[in-house]
Amino acid sequence: MDELRRREIEENLTELRERIAAACGSSGRSVDEVHLIAVTKTYPVDDVRILCDLGIHDLGENRDQEARAKAEAFAAQDGREVRWHFIGQLQSNKAKSVVRYASMVHTVDRSSLADALRKAATEPLDCLVQLSVDGDPERGGVTADGLGALVERIEYPLRLRGVMAVAPLGMPPAEAFDAVAAMHDKVLAIRPDAVIRCIGMSDDFETAIAHGATHIRVGSALLGHRTVR
Ligand SMILES: *Cc1c(COP(=O)(O)O)cnc(C)c1O
Repeated sequence: MDELRRREIEENLTELRERIAAACGSSGRSVDEVHLIAVTKTYPVDDVRILCDLGIHDLGENRDQEARAKAEAFAAQDGREVRWHFIGQLQSNKAKSVVRYASMVHTVDRSSLADALRKAATEPLDCLVQLSVDGDPERGGVTADGLGALVERIEYPLRLRGVMAVAPLGMPPAEAFDAVAAMHDKVLAIRPDAVIRCIGMSDDFETAIAHGATHIRVGSALLGHRTVR
């Protein structure tokens, strides 16, 4: 394996962990409260192996075809346990494929998708409801008015573990994450154990940590800038 690449990722991870620790420090939180999901989309299975060597076992992917191929290739080449997080927009007809490799689906944003996942799941599946703070259909997510009904629809074998959101472009992340916090409170009133708040990416994870992120999804700060997506 490419030693230079390994060193590059290791340095990025060291720097990232320092930034996470600093953000936790300034908001009076413990680093143990913030879980890192490494977003590996567009990057090869060799990078997954390096991340695994460095102690990262939670990986995020946003396209079913790529995710499934990578998950299968990793499983075939490497015996270690990893958790694949599906973080992209998901069509209902891909539910059957995604449940085969995903440990958690972050982007449940409509009843029809919850129903498709419920039918497809052969064992309990952790899910997050994706929140939309501005109603933009391009990014996906459920708005405040549909939230209660969607939460009720997430039933066994699905397990609602919390919420996920992407801050809209052009909105200050602090404002977006305030709105997420308010919506998450509504979810917690219905499902008190849905405590995951998955917000924050390379450009805004420090703000997300200040706004109660329990999980952050970091790609480019760890693996480098992508030319696509
Ligand atoms: C790509 C992606 C990320 C990671 O983005 P970076 O800016 O590279 O950290 C996080 N969340 C979702 C939903 C993504 O699609």
